Amino acid sequence: MRTSDDTSTRVFSNLVDGKWVASSSGRLFDNRNPADDRDLIGRFQESTPEDAERAIAAAARAYEEWRFVPAPRRAEILFRAAQLIVERKESFARDMTREMGKVLEETRGDVQEAIDMTYFMAGEGRRMYGQTVPSELRDKFAMSVRQPLGVCGIITPWNFPMAIPSWKIVPALVCGNTVVFKPSSLTPLSAINFVKVLEEAGIPPGVVNLVTGGPDVGTVLSTHEVIKVVSFTGSTAVGRLVNQNAAPGFKKVHLEMGGKNIIIVMDDAQLELAVEGCLWGGFGTTGQRCTAASRVVVHEKVYEEFLGEFARRAKALHVGNGAQDGVQVGPSVSESQLATVMKYVEIGKREGATLVTGGHRLEQGEYARGWFHEPTIFGDVQPSMRIAQEEIFGPVVSVMRCGSLAEAVEIGNGVAYGLSASIYTRNVNTAFAAMRDMYTGIFYVNAPTIGAEVHLPFGGTKATGNGHREAGIAALDVFSEWKSIYVDFSGRLQRAQIDVE
Ligand code: NAD
Repeated sequence: MRTSDDTSTRVFSNLVDGKWVASSSGRLFDNRNPADDRDLIGRFQESTPEDAERAIAAAARAYEEWRFVPAPRRAEILFRAAQLIVERKESFARDMTREMGKVLEETRGDVQEAIDMTYFMAGEGRRMYGQTVPSELRDKFAMSVRQPLGVCGIITPWNFPMAIPSWKIVPALVCGNTVVFKPSSLTPLSAINFVKVLEEAGIPPGVVNLVTGGPDVGTVLSTHEVIKVVSFTGSTAVGRLVNQNAAPGFKKVHLEMGGKNIIIVMDDAQLELAVEGCLWGGFGTTGQRCTAASRVVVHEKVYEEFLGEFARRAKALHVGNGAQDGVQVGPSVSESQLATVMKYVEIGKREGATLVTGGHRLEQGEYARGWFHEPTIFGDVQPSMRIAQEEIFGPVVSVMRCGSLAEAVEIGNGVAYGLSASIYTRNVNTAFAAMRDMYTGIFYVNAPTIGAEVHLPFGGTKATGNGHREAGIAALDVFSEWKSIYVDFSGRLQRAQIDVE
C-alpha cells in the first residue's frame, strides 16, 4: 500500500502532528462518484480509535504553544489560507462535485463559503471583543476576555464538505484552540483539500489534525477526556449519541442537526417568485441541505395555481451529473440515501398524498451508474403525515394547504425540528408576524429557506440544535470561554457588595 498526499496515487493519508500518515489499521475505504460509481476518486484511511488518540495527543501538545501565538498572528495565517482557497476554488469545486454530486455552481458556492468564513474569522483575530466595565468599587478595574478551551473534536457531514468544516475549524483556531477533524467518509477529499491549505498557509504541526474514518473515530472524539469541545453537524440521531457520549465528561457540545423546513406562500404572494424560491429551496442540492424546503404550505386561494406551476417547473429541471453544463439537480450522495428517498416516496403514496410529479428513480442511459431520482412533489399532504414530519434529505417536497397565517404557522412549527422557515407575502404585517411566530433559528422573507451568509449566526431550535450557533461572532462563543478579571489597585481589601459607599 502506498500512502501519500499526492493525488496521482489516489491513496490519501491522515494528518497527525504535521505528518501525512497511514492508519494503524492498514485498511482503506473507497470514495466513489455518486453520478457514476465506476469513477473511483481515491482510497482513504479507515482509521482506528488509536489513530484518533494519537491525533488528540498531538493536538494537546500543539495547544501548549498555539495558545500563546497572538490572535492577530493566528489570523494572518488564516488570511493566507483564504487567499490560497481563492486560487484553488475551481479545482476544489470540481473535486467536490465529483465526490458528492452537487452541481458545479453550488460546489463553487460551498468553497466560497469557506473563503468568506476564513476571511471573516481572520478579521476576528484583531477583535474578539470582551467587555470593559466600571467596577462598583474605587480603584478597581473590571473586564472580560475570551480564552481558548484546548483540543476541539470536529465531526462533519458530507453535504457541505468544505463550508461546514470551515465554520468550525477556523473559529476554533482563531480563538487559540487546536483541532482533531473527522470528516464524513463520503467527502474526505474536500476535507483534505481544506486541511492542506491550512497547512500550506503556515498552521504549525499538530494544530490541525485530520483523521478519516467512521463512527469509531467519532466516538473517540466525543468521549476522550482531553477533548474540551465537540462540534458536530449531522443527523439528529447521531447528534443525540454524541451528546450522550460527551455528557459524562462535561464537554462543551455544539450540535447542528436535522431539519424539516417550510416555505409559507400567502394569497398575496408574488406567485412566480414563490415558485422560483420553492424550486431552489426544495430541489437545490438535490434537497440534501439541512435548510432544504421539504415542506410548502400554500394559502388555499392560490393553492391550485401554485401547485400547477410548481409541478410544471419541477418536471422541467435537468437532472444529471453535476459536472456537466446545464444540469440543475445532481444525484443523491449514495445508494443508501437514494434508498431513503425511494422509501419515503412509497410512504407518501401509502399515506394517501397525491403524487403530483416525479416519484421514480432515474436509471436508464446516462443515469445507469449513479443515484438519480426525479424531482418529486406530493400534493394534498396532511401535516401529520410522515412525509411532512420526517427529514427525507432528497428531492421530495410535500405541499399542504392553509386558510390563514395562523394555520400556516401552526403547521410550520408542528414538527420536531426548527432550522429555517420562510414566507412569501407582499404584506409587511404578515411578514413580521410570521417572523416573530416561527420558532426557527433562521427566517427569510420573500426568499427560500436556504441562503445563509457567514457573518450572521447559523443554527436551529428543538431537534435541530442544542442552543449554540455557528458562523458570525456567535461561533466564538462555542470555541472560547469567558474569563472575568478584576484588578484591584487600591492597596487595601475591598469587598464587593459589602464595602459599598
Ligand atoms: P450523519 O449523522 O450520518 O454523520 C455525520 C458525521 O457523524 C459523519 O462524519 C459520521 O461519520 C459521524 N458519525 C457517525 N456515527 C457517529 C458516532 N456514533 N459518533 C460520532 N460521530 C459519528 O449525517 P450525514 O448523513 O453525514 O449528514 C446529513 C445530516 O446532517 C442531515 O440530517 C442534515 O440535516 C444534517 N445537517 C445539518 C446541518 C445543520 O447545520 N443543522 C448542516 C448540514 C447537515
